[in-house]
Parts: sequence; structure tokens; C-alpha cells
Amino acid sequence: MSTFVDTRPTQNLESFKGVKKVPHEEYYSSGHRTCQGCESAQIMKLMAKAAGPRTIVLGATGCMYVANTSYYATPWGLPWMHTQLGSAGSAALGAAAAFRVQMRKGAMKDEPINVIAFCGDGGGADMGLNAISATLTHPDYNLLILLYDNESYGNTDIQISGTSPYGVNTSFSTPGKVTRIMHHRWKKNVAPLIIAGHPTCKYVGTISTSYALQAMNCVRRALSIGGPTFIHCLNPCPKGWDFDPILSHELGELAVNTGIWPLYEVIEGKLKLYGKTEQIAKGKFKRLPVRDYLLKQGRFAHFLEEDIEFFQSKIDEMWDKWLVPGVIPLLKDLEG
Ligand code: SF4
Ligand code: MG
Repeated sequence: MSTFVDTRPTQNLESFKGVKKVPHEEYYSSGHRTCQGCESAQIMKLMAKAAGPRTIVLGATGCMYVANTSYYATPWGLPWMHTQLGSAGSAALGAAAAFRVQMRKGAMKDEPINVIAFCGDGGGADMGLNAISATLTHPDYNLLILLYDNESYGNTDIQISGTSPYGVNTSFSTPGKVTRIMHHRWKKNVAPLIIAGHPTCKYVGTISTSYALQAMNCVRRALSIGGPTFIHCLNPCPKGWDFDPILSHELGELAVNTGIWPLYEVIEGKLKLYGKTEQIAKGKFKRLPVRDYLLKQGRFAHFLEEDIEFFQSKIDEMWDKWLVPGVIPLLKDLEG
């Protein structure tokens, strides 16, 4: 019986075995105008390096569109196209389908070409989630959707998005004298939402730019596996998070080491925690207190001790009570 699945071969991008094996060629270099210390720009650079030259990149509206396409300047050494704020999913699917038709008709050489669409949290976790969801239900196209998450609408002056953390100071949740905590929602957990709802999605991973080699190898695994894939990357943002750019790398590490941002991959349905997250889960590394992360950022400067304690209690709950920390929020003590 036909399953209507007609997957095409992918490039075989083997993992880089150490930083010395990473090629020197850059496909995202100077020419952009992102803020100093911008980790969203860093993941663009790593993603492009990991994918290599036979790649097309589609970028939804957001910082990585606006700051990267100033008139007569571009950092992209790969073919790149802008797409609308909510369209990363449909752009990826459309490009993959167009390549297939062009190759079938002989209009272009028949070869595996990486299709990557990226979006910010506004474009991916909020407005574009619908199109991403639809795209990831198509098993027969090779593509990667990468969500770079700076936890706000950074491009339009740091408004709250679905992934903004609890209590954070944004231009939509400025603390006042009467009400200190203006944002009461917990961060949307996007990767598990993709995992649970899209069994056709062959690869889902969470990454951090502070662990660059691992991040690049996650991108390479996603692009090599065949079928629709998804990566969620947390990106410290000096402007929106209000910290000295020299701390960008450290904050990425702290997000992982405090247990706030767990690192894992789900490859064809199999879950694997990796890096420091795996060490935490195995009891080999003790989670750092969340205050180490929160108090380095001006966006949490209004937090009192009780706010830090509440934040810590939610992270503890995730690690101590969830069926799988960071991934499955069902409580361990299942009834029945
Ligand atoms: Fe990067 Fe944040 Fe500046 Fe946007 S606002 S360019 S994400 S540092
Ligand atoms: Mg954003």
C-alpha cells in the first residue's frame, strides 16, 4: 500500500569530531548589524557553517531578518530569502517542494540541497506555529525549521512573546510601584509541543550557542536524517535582557547549568539528554541556583527574594516531579 511518502536523499553531514575539525569557511560573516554580543547572530553563523554551501536559507521577519538585510549589506554567503513573520513553516515546505519539481523536470541538477527556515520566538512560537505545525506533518520533505529564541519581540522593541519568562521586564510588562510582577505566564515549552503532536517530525532538538560544537552537530544530524525536523535554540540578547555583551556566552551556559534550559534530542522518537543536562539528570552535576542566572540580567532587576524563590520552585518542580525533566510535564506519580 502506498504511504505517499517519497523522501529524497539528504546530504550526509557527519558530526564534527572536535573544534579542530570544524571548517574555516564562513557562510554568515561580517555585514550584519545585530547588537554586540547577539547570540541570535551566533546561531545563524553556526547553523550556516554546520549546513555548508549547498543550502538555501529562508528567514522569517525578526531581528535576524531586519539586522541582516540592511541596504547594500548582507552577512549571508548562502542563498537567502525573506519570508513573512508567520511563514517559516510554509516557506520551508514550499522551497522543498519547488526543488523537487525543478529537479524532476530537469530544470536544475538533481542533488540534495539543505532547506532551512528560521524564525524568532514571535515568528515561531507565536504567530507562525500554525504553519510550522502543518509543515511538520508532511513526512516526505527534507527540511529544518530553526527557532532562535531571544524570549521577546526583539526587533520591535522587546515586547512579550509566548516564550518570555515569568515576571520579566519587557516593554509590555514594565514593573511599577503598585504592581511589581506584570507578566504572570510561564514560558511556552515549544519543543515538547512539537514532539508530542508531530510524530512525523524525524528530529527535534534543543540547543544553546554557548555549546557551539554540540549545536552545530545537532544541525548536521537534523539535516542528514531525512524528513521534516525542528530545532529550538535559546539566545541571550544583550539589548532585550539588559546585560553587558561580555556576558552572552556565560548566560547561555548558566541557562543550561541552572536547569532552566534543558538540552536534548529526540531522534526518530528516541529521547536523549545531552551535555550538562545529561550530567544533571544522572546526578553528576548539581544544578546551579537560578539566581546566578536571573540576577545577571537587568530584565529581572525588580525581582525580590520571593520572586527568585518562586522561579526556583518551578524549576525544581520540573526536575523533581516531571516524568522527563524539561520534556514531559506529566507528574511522575501517575494515578492508576
Ligand atoms: Fe540580537 Fe537581541 Fe539585538 Fe535582536 S535585539 S539583534 S536578538 S541582541
Ligand atoms: Mg524574539
